[in-house]
Amino acid sequence: MPIVQAPTPCEPGRAARPRIPLHAPALSGREWAYVKECLDSGWVSSAGPMVGRFEQMVAAWLGRRHAVATSSGTTALHLALLAAGVEPDDEVLVPSLTFVATANAVRYCGAWPVFVDADAATWQMAPQRLSEFVTTRCQVRQGALRNRRSGRRVRAILPVHLLGHPCDMDAIGEIARRHALWVVEDAAQSLGAVCRGRKAGTFGDLACLSFNGNKVITTGGGGMVVTDDLALAERVRYLSTQAKDHPMEYIHASIGYNYRLSSLQAALGCGQLEQLDGHLQRKARMAVRYREAFADRPNVAPMPSASWASPAWWLFTLRLAPGRDAGDLVTRVAARGIEARRLWRPLPRLPMYRAAEQLGGEVADALYAQAFSLPSSPALSSDDQETVIEVVRELLSS
Ligand SMILES: *Cc1c(COP(=O)(O)O)cnc(C)c1O
Repeated sequence: MPIVQAPTPCEPGRAARPRIPLHAPALSGREWAYVKECLDSGWVSSAGPMVGRFEQMVAAWLGRRHAVATSSGTTALHLALLAAGVEPDDEVLVPSLTFVATANAVRYCGAWPVFVDADAATWQMAPQRLSEFVTTRCQVRQGALRNRRSGRRVRAILPVHLLGHPCDMDAIGEIARRHALWVVEDAAQSLGAVCRGRKAGTFGDLACLSFNGNKVITTGGGGMVVTDDLALAERVRYLSTQAKDHPMEYIHASIGYNYRLSSLQAALGCGQLEQLDGHLQRKARMAVRYREAFADRPNVAPMPSASWASPAWWLFTLRLAPGRDAGDLVTRVAARGIEARRLWRPLPRLPMYRAAEQLGGEVADALYAQAFSLPSSPALSSDDQETVIEVVRELLSS
Protein backbone atom coordinates (compact mmCIF):
# COMPACT_ATOMS: atom_id res chain seq x y z
CA MET A 1 0.00 0.00 0.00
CA PRO A 2 1.44 3.41 -0.86
CA ILE A 3 2.35 5.45 2.18
CA VAL A 4 1.93 8.79 0.42
CA GLN A 5 -0.97 9.24 -1.90
CA ALA A 6 -0.24 11.01 -5.15
CA PRO A 7 -2.11 14.32 -5.38
CA THR A 8 -5.07 14.19 -7.69
CA PRO A 9 -5.11 16.86 -10.39
CA CYS A 10 -8.28 18.45 -9.05
CA GLU A 11 -7.00 18.81 -5.48
CA PRO A 12 -7.55 22.44 -4.42
CA GLY A 13 -4.48 24.55 -4.91
CA ARG A 14 -2.90 22.00 -7.19
CA ALA A 15 -5.18 22.39 -10.16
CA ALA A 16 -3.47 22.08 -13.51
CA ARG A 17 -2.64 25.47 -15.00
CA PRO A 18 -5.62 26.58 -17.10
CA ARG A 19 -5.02 27.05 -20.80
CA ILE A 20 -6.07 30.69 -20.47
CA PRO A 21 -5.34 32.01 -16.95
CA LEU A 22 -7.19 34.83 -15.24
CA HIS A 23 -4.24 37.18 -14.94
CA ALA A 24 -0.71 36.01 -15.69
CA PRO A 25 2.33 38.27 -15.40
CA ALA A 26 3.98 39.57 -18.58
CA LEU A 27 7.73 39.50 -17.95
CA SER A 28 9.04 40.56 -21.31
CA GLY A 29 11.00 43.68 -20.37
CA ARG A 30 14.36 44.17 -18.69
CA GLU A 31 13.55 41.99 -15.63
CA TRP A 32 16.36 39.51 -16.40
CA ALA A 33 18.93 42.29 -16.79
CA TYR A 34 17.98 43.94 -13.49
CA VAL A 35 17.92 40.66 -11.55
CA LYS A 36 21.33 39.84 -13.03
CA GLU A 37 22.56 43.24 -11.86
CA CYS A 38 21.62 42.22 -8.30
CA LEU A 39 23.31 38.83 -8.59
CA ASP A 40 26.47 40.27 -10.16
CA SER A 41 26.73 42.98 -7.51
CA GLY A 42 25.87 40.72 -4.58
CA TRP A 43 23.02 43.02 -3.45
CA VAL A 44 20.22 40.52 -3.04
CA SER A 45 18.69 41.51 0.31
CA SER A 46 16.98 44.84 1.03
CA ALA A 47 20.29 46.70 1.15
CA GLY A 48 21.86 48.09 -2.02
CA PRO A 49 20.53 50.44 -4.69
CA MET A 50 17.69 48.45 -6.30
CA VAL A 51 14.91 48.94 -3.73
CA GLY A 52 15.46 52.71 -3.70
CA ARG A 53 15.48 52.78 -7.48
CA PHE A 54 12.14 50.96 -7.62
CA GLU A 55 10.65 53.25 -4.97
CA GLN A 56 11.73 56.34 -6.92
CA MET A 57 10.33 54.95 -10.17
CA VAL A 58 6.93 54.26 -8.60
CA ALA A 59 6.81 57.63 -6.83
CA ALA A 60 7.70 59.41 -10.09
CA TRP A 61 5.15 57.42 -12.12
CA LEU A 62 2.38 58.29 -9.68
CA GLY A 63 3.58 61.82 -8.99
CA ARG A 64 3.88 61.30 -5.23
CA ARG A 65 6.78 62.55 -3.15
CA HIS A 66 7.62 59.40 -1.20
CA ALA A 67 7.36 55.65 -1.64
CA VAL A 68 8.34 52.86 0.75
CA ALA A 69 8.54 49.31 -0.61
CA THR A 70 7.08 46.51 1.51
CA SER A 71 6.95 42.73 1.39
CA SER A 72 3.31 42.68 0.19
CA GLY A 73 0.23 44.79 -0.34
CA THR A 74 -1.13 43.42 2.92
CA THR A 75 1.90 44.58 4.92
CA ALA A 76 1.72 47.95 3.11
CA LEU A 77 -1.85 48.33 4.39
CA HIS A 78 -0.87 47.34 7.93
CA LEU A 79 1.92 49.93 8.07
CA ALA A 80 -0.12 52.67 6.37
CA LEU A 81 -2.87 52.26 8.97
CA LEU A 82 -0.34 52.34 11.81
CA ALA A 83 1.22 55.49 10.33
CA ALA A 84 -2.27 57.03 10.14
CA GLY A 85 -2.47 56.52 13.90
CA VAL A 86 -5.01 53.69 13.87
CA GLU A 87 -5.02 52.26 17.37
CA PRO A 88 -6.65 49.29 19.11
CA ASP A 89 -10.42 49.74 19.37
CA ASP A 90 -10.60 52.43 16.68
CA GLU A 91 -12.94 51.91 13.75
CA VAL A 92 -12.02 52.08 10.08
CA LEU A 93 -14.55 52.27 7.22
CA VAL A 94 -13.89 49.49 4.72
CA PRO A 95 -15.94 48.29 1.72
CA SER A 96 -17.99 45.09 2.15
CA LEU A 97 -16.85 43.98 -1.27
CA THR A 98 -13.05 43.64 -1.37
CA PHE A 99 -10.29 41.11 -0.92
CA VAL A 100 -10.02 39.98 2.71
CA ALA A 101 -6.57 41.57 3.17
CA THR A 102 -8.15 45.04 3.39
CA ALA A 103 -10.12 44.24 6.55
CA ASN A 104 -7.46 41.94 8.00
CA ALA A 105 -4.99 44.86 8.01
CA VAL A 106 -7.46 46.80 10.19
CA ARG A 107 -7.61 43.88 12.63
CA TYR A 108 -3.78 43.61 12.71
CA CYS A 109 -3.89 47.10 14.28
CA GLY A 110 -6.44 45.88 16.83
CA ALA A 111 -9.04 48.15 15.21
CA TRP A 112 -12.47 47.20 13.86
CA PRO A 113 -13.76 47.41 10.31
CA VAL A 114 -17.18 48.98 9.67
CA PHE A 115 -18.36 47.64 6.33
CA VAL A 116 -19.73 49.99 3.70
CA ASP A 117 -21.85 48.62 0.85
CA ALA A 118 -20.92 49.08 -2.80
CA ASP A 119 -22.57 51.76 -4.90
CA ALA A 120 -24.88 50.13 -7.46
CA ALA A 121 -23.69 52.44 -10.24
CA THR A 122 -19.92 52.01 -9.81
CA TRP A 123 -19.56 48.83 -7.66
CA GLN A 124 -17.16 50.89 -5.50
CA MET A 125 -17.53 51.99 -1.86
CA ALA A 126 -20.75 54.04 -1.70
CA PRO A 127 -20.10 57.66 -0.61
CA GLN A 128 -23.81 57.98 0.23
CA ARG A 129 -23.53 55.22 2.86
CA LEU A 130 -20.39 56.80 4.31
CA SER A 131 -22.06 60.16 4.53
CA GLU A 132 -25.16 58.73 6.25
CA PHE A 133 -22.96 56.92 8.77
CA VAL A 134 -20.85 59.90 9.80
CA THR A 135 -23.79 62.31 9.94
CA THR A 136 -26.48 60.12 11.57
CA ARG A 137 -24.62 57.42 13.48
CA CYS A 138 -21.61 59.32 14.79
CA GLN A 139 -21.00 62.28 17.07
CA VAL A 140 -17.98 64.32 18.07
CA ARG A 141 -16.95 63.61 21.63
CA GLN A 142 -13.67 64.59 23.34
CA GLY A 143 -12.46 66.02 20.05
CA ALA A 144 -12.93 62.79 18.11
CA LEU A 145 -15.60 61.40 15.83
CA ARG A 146 -17.23 58.49 17.64
CA ASN A 147 -19.67 55.80 16.60
CA ARG A 148 -22.66 56.37 18.92
CA ARG A 149 -23.50 52.69 19.12
CA SER A 150 -20.05 51.27 19.84
CA GLY A 151 -18.59 54.39 21.44
CA ARG A 152 -15.41 53.80 19.48
CA ARG A 153 -13.34 56.45 17.75
CA VAL A 154 -13.75 56.45 13.96
CA ARG A 155 -10.27 57.04 12.63
CA ALA A 156 -10.03 56.47 8.89
CA ILE A 157 -11.69 55.63 5.60
CA LEU A 158 -10.04 52.84 3.62
CA PRO A 159 -11.47 53.00 0.08
CA VAL A 160 -10.49 50.20 -2.31
CA HIS A 161 -10.37 50.83 -6.05
CA LEU A 162 -11.92 47.53 -7.12
CA LEU A 163 -11.10 45.65 -10.32
CA GLY A 164 -9.17 48.60 -11.75
CA HIS A 165 -12.02 51.13 -11.45
CA PRO A 166 -11.41 54.11 -9.16
CA CYS A 167 -13.67 55.04 -6.24
CA ASP A 168 -15.37 58.43 -6.30
CA MET A 169 -12.51 60.08 -4.45
CA ASP A 170 -13.95 63.61 -4.60
CA ALA A 171 -17.00 62.52 -2.62
CA ILE A 172 -14.99 60.37 -0.20
CA GLY A 173 -12.33 63.06 0.27
CA GLU A 174 -15.00 65.64 1.03
CA ILE A 175 -16.53 63.46 3.77
CA ALA A 176 -13.09 62.76 5.22
CA ARG A 177 -12.17 66.47 5.32
CA ARG A 178 -15.45 67.47 6.90
CA HIS A 179 -15.04 64.94 9.71
CA ALA A 180 -11.23 64.99 10.04
CA LEU A 181 -10.86 61.36 9.05
CA TRP A 182 -7.71 59.91 7.52
CA VAL A 183 -7.89 58.42 4.04
CA VAL A 184 -5.74 55.39 3.29
CA GLU A 185 -6.31 54.18 -0.29
CA ASP A 186 -6.07 50.51 -1.15
CA ALA A 187 -4.94 50.77 -4.77
CA ALA A 188 -3.71 47.15 -4.88
CA GLN A 189 -5.90 46.34 -7.88
CA SER A 190 -5.76 49.66 -9.62
CA LEU A 191 -2.31 50.98 -10.41
CA GLY A 192 -3.00 53.15 -13.47
CA ALA A 193 -6.67 53.89 -12.76
CA VAL A 194 -7.63 57.56 -13.07
CA CYS A 195 -10.39 59.46 -11.25
CA ARG A 196 -11.23 62.89 -12.78
CA GLY A 197 -7.78 63.25 -14.28
CA ARG A 198 -5.92 62.16 -11.15
CA LYS A 199 -4.31 58.76 -10.63
CA ALA A 200 -5.59 56.31 -8.02
CA GLY A 201 -3.02 56.25 -5.24
CA THR A 202 -2.61 60.04 -5.18
CA PHE A 203 -5.70 60.96 -3.14
CA GLY A 204 -5.17 59.41 0.28
CA ASP A 205 -2.93 60.66 3.07
CA LEU A 206 -1.29 57.33 2.29
CA ALA A 207 -1.98 54.82 -0.48
CA CYS A 208 -1.03 51.17 -0.81
CA LEU A 209 -0.06 49.11 -3.84
CA SER A 210 0.38 45.38 -4.36
CA PHE A 211 2.82 43.67 -6.69
CA ASN A 212 1.47 40.18 -6.13
CA GLY A 213 1.75 37.79 -9.09
CA ASN A 214 -1.74 38.52 -10.40
CA LYS A 215 -1.74 42.32 -10.13
CA VAL A 216 -1.27 44.88 -12.93
CA ILE A 217 2.50 44.68 -12.43
CA THR A 218 4.30 42.18 -10.23
CA THR A 219 7.48 41.67 -8.24
CA GLY A 220 6.53 38.06 -7.54
CA GLY A 221 5.21 39.37 -4.23
CA GLY A 222 5.54 42.84 -2.81
CA GLY A 223 3.84 46.11 -2.08
CA MET A 224 4.38 49.81 -1.52
CA VAL A 225 3.12 52.70 0.56
CA VAL A 226 3.10 56.10 -1.17
CA THR A 227 2.49 59.49 0.42
CA ASP A 228 3.42 63.17 0.02
CA ASP A 229 4.22 63.51 3.72
CA LEU A 230 7.85 62.90 4.65
CA ALA A 231 7.09 62.14 8.31
CA LEU A 232 4.54 59.48 7.34
CA ALA A 233 6.96 57.91 4.86
CA GLU A 234 9.68 57.84 7.50
CA ARG A 235 7.32 56.24 10.00
CA VAL A 236 6.38 53.52 7.52
CA ARG A 237 10.03 52.88 6.67
CA TYR A 238 10.99 52.76 10.34
CA LEU A 239 8.25 50.25 11.17
CA SER A 240 9.08 48.12 8.11
CA THR A 241 12.69 47.68 9.22
CA GLN A 242 12.20 46.47 12.82
CA ALA A 243 12.05 50.03 14.18
CA LYS A 244 15.80 50.33 14.11
CA ASP A 245 17.00 53.40 16.02
CA HIS A 246 20.74 53.22 15.40
CA PRO A 247 22.64 52.53 12.17
CA MET A 248 25.23 50.28 13.82
CA GLU A 249 23.68 48.98 17.02
CA TYR A 250 20.65 46.91 17.87
CA ILE A 251 18.60 49.58 19.60
CA HIS A 252 14.82 49.74 19.18
CA ALA A 253 12.25 51.96 20.88
CA SER A 254 9.15 50.26 19.47
CA ILE A 255 7.96 46.94 18.16
CA GLY A 256 8.65 47.00 14.43
CA TYR A 257 8.22 44.51 11.65
CA ASN A 258 10.35 42.86 9.01
CA TYR A 259 8.18 43.95 6.09
CA ARG A 260 10.88 44.92 3.60
CA LEU A 261 11.05 44.11 -0.08
CA SER A 262 14.23 42.44 -1.34
CA SER A 263 16.44 43.77 -4.12
CA LEU A 264 15.63 40.75 -6.29
CA GLN A 265 11.93 41.59 -6.07
CA ALA A 266 12.61 45.29 -6.65
CA ALA A 267 14.63 44.37 -9.75
CA LEU A 268 11.58 42.61 -11.18
CA GLY A 269 9.53 45.67 -10.26
CA CYS A 270 11.85 48.06 -12.15
CA GLY A 271 11.52 45.89 -15.26
CA GLN A 272 7.76 45.72 -14.81
CA LEU A 273 7.21 49.41 -14.22
CA GLU A 274 8.93 50.25 -17.51
CA GLN A 275 6.17 48.22 -19.19
CA LEU A 276 3.24 49.58 -17.19
CA ASP A 277 2.03 52.09 -19.79
CA GLY A 278 2.06 49.35 -22.42
CA HIS A 279 0.16 46.98 -20.11
CA LEU A 280 -2.47 49.64 -19.51
CA GLN A 281 -2.91 50.35 -23.22
CA ARG A 282 -3.33 46.66 -24.03
CA LYS A 283 -5.79 46.19 -21.17
CA ALA A 284 -7.85 49.17 -22.35
CA ARG A 285 -8.07 47.65 -25.86
CA MET A 286 -8.99 44.29 -24.32
CA ALA A 287 -11.81 45.95 -22.37
CA VAL A 288 -13.17 47.64 -25.50
CA ARG A 289 -13.28 44.26 -27.25
CA TYR A 290 -14.97 42.50 -24.30
CA ARG A 291 -17.61 45.23 -24.02
CA GLU A 292 -18.37 45.06 -27.71
CA ALA A 293 -18.45 41.22 -27.71
CA PHE A 294 -21.20 41.01 -25.08
CA ALA A 295 -23.14 44.16 -26.01
CA ASP A 296 -25.88 42.18 -27.79
CA ARG A 297 -26.44 39.79 -24.84
CA PRO A 298 -29.48 40.77 -22.82
CA ASN A 299 -28.51 38.52 -19.89
CA VAL A 300 -25.14 40.13 -19.06
CA ALA A 301 -23.84 43.63 -18.45
CA PRO A 302 -20.18 44.74 -18.37
CA MET A 303 -18.64 46.22 -15.23
CA PRO A 304 -19.31 49.96 -14.95
CA SER A 305 -17.00 52.62 -16.26
CA ALA A 306 -18.09 55.93 -14.77
CA SER A 307 -17.97 59.07 -16.95
CA TRP A 308 -15.36 60.55 -14.58
CA ALA A 309 -13.20 57.41 -14.50
CA SER A 310 -10.52 55.94 -16.67
CA PRO A 311 -10.12 52.39 -15.32
CA ALA A 312 -6.94 50.32 -15.31
CA TRP A 313 -9.06 47.29 -16.26
CA TRP A 314 -7.33 44.92 -13.84
CA LEU A 315 -10.00 42.22 -14.20
CA PHE A 316 -12.70 42.74 -16.80
CA THR A 317 -15.93 41.65 -15.11
CA LEU A 318 -19.41 40.78 -16.33
CA ARG A 319 -22.62 40.78 -14.32
CA LEU A 320 -25.33 38.21 -15.01
CA ALA A 321 -29.03 39.01 -14.88
CA PRO A 322 -30.60 38.25 -11.46
CA GLY A 323 -31.35 34.57 -10.95
CA ARG A 324 -28.28 33.27 -12.76
CA ASP A 325 -25.40 32.07 -10.63
CA ALA A 326 -21.88 33.31 -11.34
CA GLY A 327 -20.31 30.36 -9.50
CA ASP A 328 -21.97 27.88 -11.81
CA LEU A 329 -20.82 29.73 -14.90
CA VAL A 330 -17.24 29.94 -13.60
CA THR A 331 -17.20 26.15 -13.11
CA ARG A 332 -18.46 25.52 -16.61
CA VAL A 333 -15.92 27.95 -18.10
CA ALA A 334 -13.14 26.22 -16.12
CA ALA A 335 -14.08 22.87 -17.68
CA ARG A 336 -13.14 24.45 -21.02
CA GLY A 337 -9.65 25.43 -19.82
CA ILE A 338 -10.48 29.06 -19.12
CA GLU A 339 -9.96 30.61 -15.72
CA ALA A 340 -12.80 32.94 -14.83
CA ARG A 341 -13.33 33.99 -11.20
CA ARG A 342 -16.29 35.24 -9.23
CA LEU A 343 -15.91 38.24 -6.94
CA TRP A 344 -15.00 38.11 -3.25
CA ARG A 345 -17.57 36.81 -0.82
CA PRO A 346 -18.65 40.02 0.95
CA LEU A 347 -16.51 40.26 4.07
CA PRO A 348 -19.43 40.50 6.56
CA ARG A 349 -20.31 36.97 5.30
CA LEU A 350 -17.00 35.57 6.55
CA PRO A 351 -17.05 34.05 10.06
CA MET A 352 -14.51 36.43 11.57
CA TYR A 353 -16.42 39.50 10.36
CA ARG A 354 -19.98 38.32 10.94
CA ALA A 355 -20.39 40.44 14.07
CA ALA A 356 -18.99 43.59 12.47
CA GLU A 357 -21.17 46.62 11.82
CA GLN A 358 -22.48 46.78 8.27
CA LEU A 359 -23.87 49.77 6.37
CA GLY A 360 -26.18 48.22 3.79
CA GLY A 361 -24.77 45.24 1.94
CA GLU A 362 -27.42 44.32 -0.63
CA VAL A 363 -25.39 45.55 -3.58
CA ALA A 364 -22.28 43.63 -2.51
CA ASP A 365 -24.36 40.47 -2.01
CA ALA A 366 -25.95 40.81 -5.46
CA LEU A 367 -22.56 41.37 -7.10
CA TYR A 368 -21.19 38.31 -5.34
CA ALA A 369 -24.06 36.23 -6.70
CA GLN A 370 -23.96 37.59 -10.24
CA ALA A 371 -20.53 38.88 -11.23
CA PHE A 372 -17.50 37.07 -12.61
CA SER A 373 -14.18 38.21 -14.09
CA LEU A 374 -12.74 37.11 -17.41
CA PRO A 375 -9.09 36.49 -18.31
CA SER A 376 -7.42 39.91 -18.38
CA SER A 377 -3.67 39.31 -18.54
CA PRO A 378 -1.71 42.19 -20.04
CA ALA A 379 -0.30 39.72 -22.59
CA LEU A 380 -3.64 38.05 -23.42
CA SER A 381 -3.44 37.42 -27.18
CA SER A 382 -6.37 38.40 -29.37
CA ASP A 383 -6.76 34.72 -30.36
CA ASP A 384 -7.10 33.73 -26.70
CA GLN A 385 -9.49 36.60 -26.07
CA GLU A 386 -11.66 35.48 -28.98
CA THR A 387 -11.66 31.93 -27.56
CA VAL A 388 -12.83 33.27 -24.19
CA ILE A 389 -15.55 35.30 -25.87
CA GLU A 390 -16.73 32.34 -27.94
CA VAL A 391 -16.92 29.96 -24.97
CA VAL A 392 -18.60 32.42 -22.61
CA ARG A 393 -21.13 33.48 -25.25
CA GLU A 394 -21.95 29.82 -25.89
CA LEU A 395 -22.38 29.05 -22.18
CA LEU A 396 -24.49 32.16 -21.65
CA SER A 397 -26.98 31.07 -24.28
CA SER A 398 -27.30 27.51 -22.89
C1 LIG B 1 -4.10 41.91 -3.67
C2 LIG B 1 -4.80 42.79 -2.73
C3 LIG B 1 -4.26 43.11 -1.48
C4 LIG B 1 -3.10 42.43 -0.87
O1 LIG B 1 -1.96 42.42 -1.61
P1 LIG B 1 -0.87 41.27 -1.39
O2 LIG B 1 0.29 41.80 -2.12
O3 LIG B 1 -1.44 40.02 -2.00
O4 LIG B 1 -0.63 41.12 0.06
C5 LIG B 1 -4.92 44.03 -0.70
N1 LIG B 1 -6.06 44.61 -1.10
C6 LIG B 1 -6.62 44.31 -2.28
C7 LIG B 1 -7.87 45.01 -2.66
C8 LIG B 1 -6.03 43.37 -3.12
O5 LIG B 1 -6.62 43.07 -4.28
